Amino acid sequence: MQYFITKFDKQRIVDISNHFFPCEICGLIGINTDKYLHPLFVKNEDLNPLRNFRISNGSVAKAKIELNKRGFAFIGVIHSHPKTMAKPTTSDKNYNMGNSLWIIYSVCYKELKIYKWNGRIFIEQKLLVK
Ligand SMILES: [Zn+2]
Repeated sequence: MQYFITKFDKQRIVDISNHFFPCEICGLIGINTDKYLHPLFVKNEDLNPLRNFRISNGSVAKAKIELNKRGFAFIGVIHSHPKTMAKPTTSDKNYNMGNSLWIIYSVCYKELKIYKWNGRIFIEQKLLVK
C-alpha cells in the first residue's frame, strides 16, 4: 500500500523531532480519503523520554477527536528515534496499538519510514511526499 504526506507535514515532523532532541517525540496519525497521513503531536508521557515514548489513553481519546475535526481518521502512531535508525524496536513491538500504521523519524539518520503492524511483524510501506 502507498501513502502520502504533504511537504508541510513532513517538515513539521523533522522540525519537532529536532526541537525535542535528544528526547523522543510522539503523536497519533490520521488518514483521509485520499490516503494522506497527518500527524497530531502529543506530549511524550514516558518517565524516560530519552529512550521511550508513551501516550496515555486520555491523550489518545482527545487526539482522536482533534484528528476527526481536521478531517482525518485515526490510523496509527508516530514517534522519533533520536539516535538510532528509523526501524521499529522490541519495545515498539510491545506497544500494542492493534492493526495500525507506524511512522518513525530518525533524527540522526534524517529518515522517515512507515510500517504496518499486522499483529506479528512490521511491514514497511511506501510513503510519498507531495
Ligand atoms: Zn521506537
